[in-house]
Amino acid sequence: MADNENAAPPAARPCPICGKPRLAQYKPFCSPRCADIDLGRWLKGSYVIPGAPVDEAEADKPASDDED
Ligand SMILES: [Zn+2]
Repeated sequence: MADNENAAPPAARPCPICGKPRLAQYKPFCSPRCADIDLGRWLKGSYVIPGAPVDEAEADKPASDDED
């Protein structure tokens, strides 16, 4: 009888890029633009992929332009 097991429904989580309410078709983002921004971070090496070679030219660049 535990009704509150799901305290936060997935739809309540904001876009990780801009913090706006995300849309189901673009999840976990709010728009294709935010998804593209996230992809750009991947390509720049902001996200470290274990086992993958990291370009040291971009590796020391902090991702502090938004709050996670
Ligand atoms: Zn967004």
